[in-house]
Amino acid sequence: MFGQNKQSSIRLSAMNENSPPIIRLRGHHLLCLLTWRGVGYTPKFTEKFGTIASQINTYKQISIHIVKGKDDLCCTLDPDTTLDYHCDNQSNLERDQIALQDISTHLSTSLRIDHSFILTLRTLHKLREAFKQGVIRRGCQGCEWYKFCTDVANNAFQDTHINQEKT
Ligand code: SF4
Repeated sequence: MFGQNKQSSIRLSAMNENSPPIIRLRGHHLLCLLTWRGVGYTPKFTEKFGTIASQINTYKQISIHIVKGKDDLCCTLDPDTTLDYHCDNQSNLERDQIALQDISTHLSTSLRIDHSFILTLRTLHKLREAFKQGVIRRGCQGCEWYKFCTDVANNAFQDTHINQEKT
């Protein structure tokens, strides 16, 4: 489950040693999780994304804390040396908000900055279906990876690194 429903939301303070790992993600990276095929801006970025993907595959779920602006993926990028560094751009903050709105609407929940929740493979699958149908893609508008991610979705998310198995 996913979101702020009483049964499904998880507060960081309630987590224990059996809880899945916690990652800090900005809103639009919830979309990027769906299509990730192992490519990214830098080797460190790709390595971090790979770690997150492995954790989701291992635990069949992951705890996500939604942050404003730079998240665990952005923090792998050096603003001074990364080509076309854009993590701090206002347009990216707006992209985050739109992505959170669309995902919240689709899942009938309310995802907001500073909230935490558990993302399961089942919910990820549900989001992939919506992504493919274009229901939750407003946050992707203007992204340089737009065509790439569209192709991934249109190819049934083949070769993405996060499992498509329903749980
Ligand atoms: S188009 Fe851009 S924002 Fe959308 S999922 Fe792909 S990389 Fe992420």
